[in-house]
Amino acid sequence: MNSLNFSMNTSLEGKVAAITGAASGIGLACAKILLNAGAKVVLIDRDGEKLGKLVTELGDNAFALQVDLMKSEQVDSMLSEILKLTGRLDIFHANAGAYIGGSIAEGDPDAWDRVLNLNINAAFRCVHAILPEMIKQKSGDIIFTSSIAGVVPVVWEPIYTASKFAVQAFVHTTRRQIAQHGVRIGAVLPGPVVTALLDDWPKAKMDEALANGSLMQPSEVAESVLFMVTRSKNVTVRDLVILPNSVDL
Ligand code: NAD
Repeated sequence: MNSLNFSMNTSLEGKVAAITGAASGIGLACAKILLNAGAKVVLIDRDGEKLGKLVTELGDNAFALQVDLMKSEQVDSMLSEILKLTGRLDIFHANAGAYIGGSIAEGDPDAWDRVLNLNINAAFRCVHAILPEMIKQKSGDIIFTSSIAGVVPVVWEPIYTASKFAVQAFVHTTRRQIAQHGVRIGAVLPGPVVTALLDDWPKAKMDEALANGSLMQPSEVAESVLFMVTRSKNVTVRDLVILPNSVDL
């Protein structure tokens, strides 16, 4: 009989991660798991007050960086701010995102723009800002929080679905550009997760989802991200889809 030796090194000792949207939900859970694995973590968010409280709670390896991702100049200077805090950058997690659902005929295009600008333009701009450092050091991991809506057209959320399809397109193309530099990029694609993002869901849909167990915890997404950033250097987890068993997608 074959014996299977499976060992997994999940230590991130000596590494630095930076995560956008880290003051809440999935970003915060990812910050906690990476800290636990030994990394220094720069928590990036526009909510400075929350960030301040969190880094006090999370200890000496947690750093706060207040950035409004909708302000281009703040995104462009993000790398130098990260390096001032921690001296290096090994993992960048473009996680911040917003949600909008509902009918296209009755929707508000200005509200769509806010979601599209954050989920697409700001996230791509972040990668442009940090990539030169990773190329220079010939290593690094870029993770996107995409969504199951990045591969399945979800009928009640056309704008959000379109934003995550754009994320998938960016990750897959950029991966092929940057692999030669030793830099990896991949996406985690969760189904519904219990976070503030879903505050916008219709109440009946939320009640039904809670009742039938079709929502996940942010920590479950964080475990997937830890897996992705701790693979052997020669492999990339390009897409990791994580769904609650009972979700009908
Ligand atoms: P969340 O609302 O709990 O957290 C989002 C964070 O982003 C907040 O802390 C907020 O302050 C920050 N943020 C928003 N706009 C910002 C800006 N302009 N500049 C800086 N920070 C800003 O949401 P979440 O559910 O943790 O979502 C994180 C990511 O996960 C998003 O990309 C979302 O699309 C994705 N996602 C969520 C779910 C879900 O069901 N919750 C499922 C799949 C994917």
